[in-house]
Amino acid sequence: MFETLSQQPPDKIIELMKLYADDPRAEKIDLGVGVYKNAEGVTPVMRAIKAAEKRLWEEQTTKSYVGLTGDPAFNDAMIDLVLGDALSRPHVASAATPGGTGAVRQAFELARMANPGLRVFVSDPTWPNHLSILKHLGIETVPYRYFDDATCTVDSEGMLADLERARPGDIVLLHGCCHNPTGANPGAAAWRDIVSVLRTTGATPMIDLAYQGFGDGLAADAGPTRLIASSLPETLIAVSCSKNFGVYRERTGALMAAGQDTDRVAAVQDNLAYLNRQNYSFPPDHGARAVTMVLTDPELRADWEAELEEMRTGMLHLREALAAELRARAGSDRFAFLAEHRGMFSRLGATPEQVQRLREDHGVYMVGDSRMNIAGLNEATVPILAEAIVRAGV
Ligand code: PMP
Repeated sequence: MFETLSQQPPDKIIELMKLYADDPRAEKIDLGVGVYKNAEGVTPVMRAIKAAEKRLWEEQTTKSYVGLTGDPAFNDAMIDLVLGDALSRPHVASAATPGGTGAVRQAFELARMANPGLRVFVSDPTWPNHLSILKHLGIETVPYRYFDDATCTVDSEGMLADLERARPGDIVLLHGCCHNPTGANPGAAAWRDIVSVLRTTGATPMIDLAYQGFGDGLAADAGPTRLIASSLPETLIAVSCSKNFGVYRERTGALMAAGQDTDRVAAVQDNLAYLNRQNYSFPPDHGARAVTMVLTDPELRADWEAELEEMRTGMLHLREALAAELRARAGSDRFAFLAEHRGMFSRLGATPEQVQRLREDHGVYMVGDSRMNIAGLNEATVPILAEAIVRAGV
């Protein structure tokens, strides 16, 4: 029967990783794959997670199944982290999922169960996996303007105009912070306008929150999510713990549904359990348990927050240093946006030919759309990258 299957198109980032690995040049720079790296190029196990895992290993007495929506303590701790005081607990349904991707997938499936004819509005550009999961599920996508190529900032006017075309029963997918792939994010006023448009159209917001703590801090990064969830009747929130807890391969995340009507929220909670059951039964537990311990133990939490803050400010310094090096070399402020962008990524605004030149002539590896992983830099490579960008004619 498998003769009916054709090969899937290769994943561009995985191809890029292979090209990088095969490049013999010592001075090559990897700005491709989307994992955090410290100055030594290592993606570390965070200290608090390591301590929590050690304690789990010592204290855990069983690995029997938990609930279909995961450990209730994990859901409570994650709701608190993401929503703070914005909504009380009966207003939020939540289920543990295999990573943020699992949450995104379950969110789309839940929305399709509620409205089989839904359309999902997606930023142009967005994380490619959003598009690929939606295509796989046969859900119609409607791109909305997001990135202004000329200024490398958010095209708020275009975005709002396009979102006005949404209808009740549609989903509007938003990145809660640290937009992937561009790094450009709406400002406070634009977020308020987005809430107004969502309110007038009656469309349902879905927030993908994969980088809380990587932008302006834990509370600030959750601000737009809290505003939306507390202002509108219903909000879906897909949360990833992969980056901010560094637990990538443990597959830790949660899908939340916030709602003003608590009876409906209770019904959604049942549907989240149902969907987990259909797709994988019990969600992964190890990462979730370590995350719960970190969030609820004051000492571990303080250490986690401190390490996350070091990561965040480290990336900000790299952004500022790169913008300064480029200002000096280009003799203009046209790369100032790099210091304004937030999170791990920035879209440089280079053409595919310039991206190729950067790779072939300078050993600088970035995704074809000129997305750079800022965490792939360190103090020594920032000036090298700046020189390469200018020489490649960007
Ligand atoms: N959403 C976005 C926008 C992302 O960038 C990522 C990570 N690449 C995810 C969701 C989910 O990541 P994971 O499944 O590894 O938690």
